[in-house]
Amino acid sequence: MASLKLVNATKEYVKGTPALKEFNLDVADGEFVVLVGPSGCGKSTALRLIAGLEAITSGDLYIGDECMNDVASHKRDIAMVFQSYALYPHMTVEENMGFSLRTSRVAKKERAERVLAVAETLGLADLLRRKPRELSGGQRQRVAMGRAIIRQPQVFLMDEPLSNLDAKLRGEMREEISELQRRLGTTTVFVTHDQIEAMTMGDRVAVLCDGVLQQVAAPDVLYDEPANLFVASFIGSPPMSILPGRVTGEEPTLQVANAQVPIGADVLAARPALAEAGEVLVGIRPEHATLVGAESTGAIDGVVRSMEGLGPDTFIRVDYDSGGHRPMPTPTGEDAGRHRPPPPPTDYDAGGHRPLPTPTGEDAGRPGAAGGAISPVITVRRSGTATVHAGQRCRVGIDPALCHFFDSEGNTVR
Ligand code: ADP
Repeated sequence: MASLKLVNATKEYVKGTPALKEFNLDVADGEFVVLVGPSGCGKSTALRLIAGLEAITSGDLYIGDECMNDVASHKRDIAMVFQSYALYPHMTVEENMGFSLRTSRVAKKERAERVLAVAETLGLADLLRRKPRELSGGQRQRVAMGRAIIRQPQVFLMDEPLSNLDAKLRGEMREEISELQRRLGTTTVFVTHDQIEAMTMGDRVAVLCDGVLQQVAAPDVLYDEPANLFVASFIGSPPMSILPGRVTGEEPTLQVANAQVPIGADVLAARPALAEAGEVLVGIRPEHATLVGAESTGAIDGVVRSMEGLGPDTFIRVDYDSGGHRPMPTPTGEDAGRHRPPPPPTDYDAGGHRPLPTPTGEDAGRPGAAGGAISPVITVRRSGTATVHAGQRCRVGIDPALCHFFDSEGNTVR
């Protein structure tokens, strides 16, 4: 086992348009790091650079203390699990799992023993004589894992290995892989576009957008302290609601939608830049938005648009009165679009967030552009079943201490 390090790693498939830009990542020995981001953000590219399937354009890759830039893929002592599993269809489970040992000329007896030991770990011992076509999706996935484990590599690389499974099985395999990785203690880099997978599996999660690393941190830190609007909007399901706001006054008050909410001294002490922030985007997680009574001050007026009951929780989508608040001015120059919000999630209804309008022309990709970052509804989480109905007037209470604030470039205001 070994640590892994990428230093300013850049990959240009086409000269001048990097798919991965100056990417820095330090993975400790035995750590499980997940690379997550929307399609095309450069996750697989990063993995392929580590695997040696692509050459690094500039920068360095280390496994342990050794620079791997010029080391051939098969000499890097890594094992990769792909989305497609890439099993040999004409071979049995036993032959598939033992294949790498055979090519390394491991004796037949030892091969059989090692295959059996790994098969038992993965619950495949009764299936060793079967061919891949005689297995379920989950079993095939396990064979692919077994083939990687049996080599006892220094590093596991996994590229969307759960994408071909149905939702229930994906949940089970998430747990299985995490548990197995902990038991084996093998340094692992796991690529996924699914933020739930990322948040539940990784010791740390690296969020990418347009080939640029946005933040790398433990899941709870990403959730509670996102570095920018992109991370804030990408992590969380349903995503946080983003509203235009403004911080005004000697005793700073947050003007958000049609509400004026006093900002307490404790909030300003924790985020000193907030007092001078002016126009901001306000991020509100569903669990931090509450339906309050008509008598409450500092709450946002709205109308219930819809509800989604999930059993333990109900998500209530509220059309809010914007109070005539216009989206903040759009950023210009090279930072434009750096931290634009991600596209809405694909495998979960975005909690009433309509797909973001696709900005065009010079507004493309800017946080405030065309309302691109602004949520059309506030999502409120309530325990149990909802006691409201669509069309009902309501008030949404928020607490500035629990809100997230972003400037016009999408950076977190602290
Ligand atoms: P992800 O895994 O996050 O979906 P990729 O790493 O596959 O993203 O791709 C990152 C970017 O590089 C994309 O814009 C993609 O079109 C481009 N890309 C990937 N592979 C190649 C290639 N072999 N040649 C040219 N461009 C590529």
